[in-house]
Amino acid sequence: MSVDSSVSNEVQSESVLLCPQGTTAAPEQKLLCIFGTGDLGRSLGQRLLQCGYGVVYGSRRPNSCGPLPWGTKAMNHEAAAMSAALVFVCVHRENYDFLEALAPQLNGKVLVDVSNNLKKNLYPESNAEYLQRLIPGADVVKAFNTLSAWSLQNGPSDANRQVYLCGNSVQAKQAVEEMATKLGFAALDRGSLSAAGELEDFPLQLFPEWRLPLRVAVGLTAFFFFYLLMRDVVYTYVEKRKDISFRIMVSLANKVFPIVSLIMLALCYLPGVIAAYLQLYRGTKYRRFPDWLDRWMLCRKQLGLIALGFAFLHVFYTLIIPIRYYVRFRITESTISKIRENRTSVFDTTTAWRADSFYSMGILGFGLFVLLGISSLPSVSNALSWREFSFIQSKLGYLTVFFCTLHTYLYGWDKFLYLSSYKWFTPPGYLLSLVVPSVLIVLKLLLLLPCVDRSLTRIRQGWERTDPEDGSVKALLT
Ligand code: NAP
Repeated sequence: MSVDSSVSNEVQSESVLLCPQGTTAAPEQKLLCIFGTGDLGRSLGQRLLQCGYGVVYGSRRPNSCGPLPWGTKAMNHEAAAMSAALVFVCVHRENYDFLEALAPQLNGKVLVDVSNNLKKNLYPESNAEYLQRLIPGADVVKAFNTLSAWSLQNGPSDANRQVYLCGNSVQAKQAVEEMATKLGFAALDRGSLSAAGELEDFPLQLFPEWRLPLRVAVGLTAFFFFYLLMRDVVYTYVEKRKDISFRIMVSLANKVFPIVSLIMLALCYLPGVIAAYLQLYRGTKYRRFPDWLDRWMLCRKQLGLIALGFAFLHVFYTLIIPIRYYVRFRITESTISKIRENRTSVFDTTTAWRADSFYSMGILGFGLFVLLGISSLPSVSNALSWREFSFIQSKLGYLTVFFCTLHTYLYGWDKFLYLSSYKWFTPPGYLLSLVVPSVLIVLKLLLLLPCVDRSLTRIRQGWERTDPEDGSVKALLT
């Protein structure tokens, strides 16, 4: 596929030169055409120029289309289309009608459709398929629509290195892929042009994989906030006629955050354990997990990151405890009353052990939790081997759950034994927060039993307990 860099005399006379003659594209430069001098057209033109391409713009108003990247030319659409073999259509789909009249000039060219829509399912066919229908003689490739004008201008970074593309012509896709690579992007082929609708839906998605974890976080936070509000503040007011509502801001918040964090951390590891039991029960790894489990597994990273956010809040709220007015007041008052009454307190070694262990488990748990968060960053995880990544995320992950759970057990200590802890017959919040992580730890420990672990490892290596066809026992496949 050769890209014609020579512009006919006729074309030259219609074109508007946007830079001095001496600085026009060198003869060996590949010339690419961009229809549309809007935001995306300009950013794309700028980027192409930086990467050594020559750029001509096709515009309705070549003489008054505003400032374009230095070194580019603006022409009418016919002239621009004839000057290059690859044309970017940086125009909204609603305005594609003008292209139909350009069919003779666009036949045999590669048309790159970058367009997106404002809503899903706005049109019966994708924009790229519509474009292909308008110009059947061209090879339409859907690409670059998932990048913003801003990211195109600034060049690829870790977060937006991918350019998804699809199209019916292999050669046309190759030409676009080559150009995307030259621009510093990683091209990912999504198949034929029928995949264009899917690509056009990508930019319309709003944090799809964060939705479920955020709902869980909001639900848990709201539940525990009202639960603790009733147990702590309302109960004290109703039963003791004491107003401790000021505790809502720090004390209550600092109970809700660690509870939600611990439950969400456990929820992040629970689907993996459920999946293992399901594989053991079915005796094969080749059957699909139920949809709910699949969805749960896919949002584990987000569950973990939100849990880490709550853990950070818990740490910050804990750090301000010594400077709180209420705490300072209570310490001063207790010291003064002891002096007045000439009382001393006896040092309790058990309490000292418990308090130190409680803090130590909390610090270790939080430290490992931060490590898990860091290793989930794409730039870090990309630098790790699969074994290193799974060691951190799995082994250290369960250790984190263990430390954080122990931290909570040490916080509660023997409180659960006293009836006074069950205000209005409700268990304390920390006790509720221990249910999921404790179940997780017990289930995980059972999986680590040598006989169970052996069976699970065999299943994960491909062994199946029974043949689905004839029911006979299969031997190890490895
Ligand atoms: P824009 O700033 O509105 O520019 C669109 C350009 O289309 C105009 O500058 C105009 O160029 C041309 N145009 C307008 N009406 C026309 C008509 N009736 N007939 C022919 N040409 C017409 O839009 P944009 O942000 O660059 O987006 C262009 C396309 O890229 C859209 O399909 C959009 O979905 C897609 N996209 C944009 C971004 C982004 O970040 N902006 C990201 C991904 C995809 P002339 O005046 O020179 O003719």
